[in-house]
Amino acid sequence: MQNIERLWEQCLSDFSKNITSVGMDLWITPLQPLNLEKDRLVLVAPSEMARTQVLDVYLMRMQSALKQHFGVEDIHVLLPSEKEDYIAKYAEQHPEIAPIDLACKPSAQDNPFNPRYTFDNFVIGTTNQVIYAAARAVAEAPAVRFNPLFIYGGVGLGKTHLLHAIGNYLWEHKLKNMNIVYVTCEQFTNSYVEALRERHEKGMDGFHKKYRQADILLIDDIQFISNKKGVQEEFFNTFNDLYQAGKQIIISSDRPPKEIATLEERLRSRFASGFIQDIQPPDFETRLLIIQKKIELERYEFEPGLDYMLAEYLSNYNIREIEAILRKIYFLANLNGKTVATREYMEEVLEKEGEPVVVSNSKMTQDKIISTVCQYFMIDRKDLIGRKRNKEIVEPRQICIYLMWTQLAIPLVTIGQIFGRDHTTIIHARDKIMEMIKTNKQMKKVVNELISELKDESN
Ligand code: ADP
Ligand code: MG
Repeated sequence: MQNIERLWEQCLSDFSKNITSVGMDLWITPLQPLNLEKDRLVLVAPSEMARTQVLDVYLMRMQSALKQHFGVEDIHVLLPSEKEDYIAKYAEQHPEIAPIDLACKPSAQDNPFNPRYTFDNFVIGTTNQVIYAAARAVAEAPAVRFNPLFIYGGVGLGKTHLLHAIGNYLWEHKLKNMNIVYVTCEQFTNSYVEALRERHEKGMDGFHKKYRQADILLIDDIQFISNKKGVQEEFFNTFNDLYQAGKQIIISSDRPPKEIATLEERLRSRFASGFIQDIQPPDFETRLLIIQKKIELERYEFEPGLDYMLAEYLSNYNIREIEAILRKIYFLANLNGKTVATREYMEEVLEKEGEPVVVSNSKMTQDKIISTVCQYFMIDRKDLIGRKRNKEIVEPRQICIYLMWTQLAIPLVTIGQIFGRDHTTIIHARDKIMEMIKTNKQMKKVVNELISELKDESN
């Protein structure tokens, strides 16, 4: 029974092979598995309409995966209002499982951590690998090393995700009665102020109980700590109590402790006694992996190559913004009745973001770029796209790559395929020309001449 959710996850990924992502998003993913009976799986749907859709439209397409993972082909779909009755009746009929496993097992609702913010869903790159390793070590063996663990970095770079990943990990592998407390700095302050307002012992008692009885305390966004003496004092005492009792403390902030102006010196030095590590904005490779991971997790469908282009274009975006862009592109495609997001939707979204992609010129083609470059340098096409490495060929080839990217915004992978090279070589070529144009007048002139020739030809 504990595995019902895990099995359901596997089913979901199989369903998505026969069901469009829109269908999955709208009707299937919102279903909640409740119970596995002898010959049917019991699910809860959020609405009557969802139930009808699932039974009338999707059931047939779900059956083989259900059979494979649950050993049943039939489903029984409840509405949320019917759930309690069902559980009670089931328990009555099956006294051997009372108290019913389902109703009593810690549900997702008891776990305060976002189920999506796990270590598995966290993409590791050069810009976050150290903090990932530290967070993981803390989750696996709290209060052994890295205590306190202090994570800092700009907005949308994964601090909260890592805190929740630690929380989720601990929750899943929870030792009996371990008390994990997650709180944002703002909540901490508010509950302190509230406790004060209650004015009697009880209020403060409750407050102390909550925080000082934590085995693991996770505090998010400490930069919002107010410079009011009371709050700092309270935090300092909480920190000390826990620390001295050998409890793990994990803190996040948008900047390092020494730059938090409101932080008292003694707290600053306490933080410094632990492990302080930053997260940097993702580099190209990490952005690409993140984009690919999000596409996979959200079950979006993007045409091949779009991931590379987005990783390029979104170099100034944080991860939260990247997620938002992906969502917008996919939903725009869906709105237009498409199940696969294509370049035109990406262009439309980026244009609205004020990041217009060079609009593809239908008359200027990759072929035309190749032939124009060949003519200009008087070299053979087969050499240009071949493997020769002498300077007379290499430079025109790099210029050609640069032009394909800037003029046609052809995905890097596609350019790579044209030239039989991987995308890092393509990026290198493009960047090299981009740099040279800035410093080398001759290169600038050549590229400009080529561009105007191409434009003339395509008019
Ligand atoms: P912060 O707390 O640093 O402002 P969050 O942790 O809220 O940022 O992250 C913003 C979004 O980016 C979240 O949806 C999170 O899942 C995602 N994200 C951040 N870093 C990564 C990563 N390395 N891999 C996958 N997703 C990430
Ligand atoms: Mg955050």
